[in-house]
Formats: sequence, structure tokens, C-alpha cells
Amino acid sequence: MIDGERNGPMKRVRFSVLALVLAFLFLSASGTRSHVESAGAVGATQIVLLGTGTPNADPERSGPSIAIVVNDTPYLVDFGPGVVRRAAAAFRKGVKGLAVKNLSRAFVTHLHSDHTAGYPDLILTPWVLERKEPLVVFGPKGIKPMTEHILRAYSEDIDIRLNGGEPSNKTGFKVITHDIKPGVVYRDQNVTVKAFLVNHGSWREAYGFRFETPGRTIVISGDCGPSPSVIENCQGCDVLIHEVYSQSGFETRAPEWQRYHSRYHTSTRELAEIATRARPGLLILYHQLFWGTSEDKLLKEIREIYSGTVVSGKDLDVY
Ligand SMILES: [Zn+2]
Ligand SMILES: [Zn+2]
Repeated sequence: MIDGERNGPMKRVRFSVLALVLAFLFLSASGTRSHVESAGAVGATQIVLLGTGTPNADPERSGPSIAIVVNDTPYLVDFGPGVVRRAAAAFRKGVKGLAVKNLSRAFVTHLHSDHTAGYPDLILTPWVLERKEPLVVFGPKGIKPMTEHILRAYSEDIDIRLNGGEPSNKTGFKVITHDIKPGVVYRDQNVTVKAFLVNHGSWREAYGFRFETPGRTIVISGDCGPSPSVIENCQGCDVLIHEVYSQSGFETRAPEWQRYHSRYHTSTRELAEIATRARPGLLILYHQLFWGTSEDKLLKEIREIYSGTVVSGKDLDVY
């Protein structure tokens, strides 16, 4: 009895240590599992940042483009310069769905050149690499004439590939365009895509998109100044991918650029407030305008106000 009382606390200590070890093992195992899922188990939704850049020709950051890949089917949002080669790089990294010939569906936020300069590449290169289906593109008014002009500009190339003896299919260079309006713009067995208007300076039509997949809800801001529609469409979504500029970098800009950027884009301070209200599971910074600020400083500016999980996206990141 006396021995038992003396041993009691020791047993309790041993039990607590065992419980801690077991808890650690369990947490490590579940951590590994979620990592595997985000790296792309069958049936998973992958978010692949193909390009996180801006009009600045940063060699580390390709033109803006995001791929939502569901059951190995890719859905692109925007096609900035470099889009096809970044998809090939992601494929090489193990994202099977981003084989170049699979690139056949795209959604366009707005027609700024940094988001669309990869369009001829997206129309023509996957065709040369054996895409048979026409490219299907959903975008604002103006996407149709842009498409027609590009096809006309490349008519000599298309003619020689069709009729000059090159083994080529007769369909993969074609493009089917759809002018979109706010609301659900696309639905199949993998995704429902909803478009919503955002404030992007003088653009009459600039969209954000909400993707609902079997496992996740993902909201992409597109380019915008603070827009209540982003908050309304996220409301606790799994992932919010939002454009941003550094507040401290902004303060170093000339007054005429400050006037422009404050109408067209969102500061770290403004985004922190937006995210606090939108409550995403994960906030990914995208289309970052640093203006000499470091990535750490950019994140620090957000975290001063926002307490949720936030990362600064880089090209070829997979979430
Ligand atoms: Zn842009
Ligand atoms: Zn823009």
C-alpha cells in the first residue's frame, strides 16, 4: 500500500510520457497524410501557381496564371506570358494533369496584357503537341475579337501546319470562346465555376472566380482593389488566392503611381482586413507587387492585422 502510493506519481509520469509520444506519432502521421493529399493523391484538387508575376519582367515569376487541377483535369485562370512552359515544368514536377496537351479549358479574369500575353502560346503550342480538342475559353467582352485577331495573325503558321506536310490534327488550333456574366459560368463532374465582378480601376469587366470541387472551395480575386464581392464569395472558403501590393513599397512610389495603384490594386493593409472578414482556411498572396520590399516584410505587413494562415505564393507552388 505504502509502496503503491510511492509508485503512483511515477506511474502517472510514465503514462503521461507514453501519451505524449503516442499523440506525437499520431499528429506526425496525419501531417504526412495531408501533405500527400496536397501533393496530389488521386481524386484530389491541386492548386498550381503557374505564374505569380505582374507586368514587371521578373525572371523568377512568370506571367499570372493559376491551374486548378481536379482528377487530373486542368482548369486555367489567366494565361500570362510563359504559361505553357510553366505547365510543362509542373508536369515534370509530378502534376500529371498538366501535360501540355491537356490544356484545353481557361477562364480569363480581365484583358490586361500581363494576364493574356500567353494566349497565342496556349492556342498553338498544345496543338502542335497533339491536343485534339479545341481550346475553350471563358472571359469578359473582348475575348472573342482578341481570339479572332490572334488566329488571323498566325494564319500563315496554321496554314503551313495544316497543309504543308506536317503530321497535325485539324481541330486542336480552334478556339471556342464564351463571353461571361456574373454567376455560374461553367459546370462539369469536377468543378462548378462562378464568376463575380471585382473593382479593377477603369475596367468595366474584371472578374474573380469561385471554384467548387468535390474537396475544396477556392476563390481567386483576379486583379482588384478592395472588393466586397471577394468577401461574399469566400465566407470561410478553403483557399483565397488574392493579389496584393506592399504598403511600405507603395509609400516609396511617385504620387501619380500611388493614385493608379490605389484604384487598381489591394495593399497588404487592405487585404489583411478583407481576409479577416472572408475567413479563408488559407490565404495565398499572388501577383505580388513588392517595390523593393522583401517577401518576409510583405507577410509581416499582413500578419500585423490578420491572424489567419497566410503564405506568399511562388511559381510552381502546389497547394
Ligand atoms: Zn495584372
Ligand atoms: Zn490588371
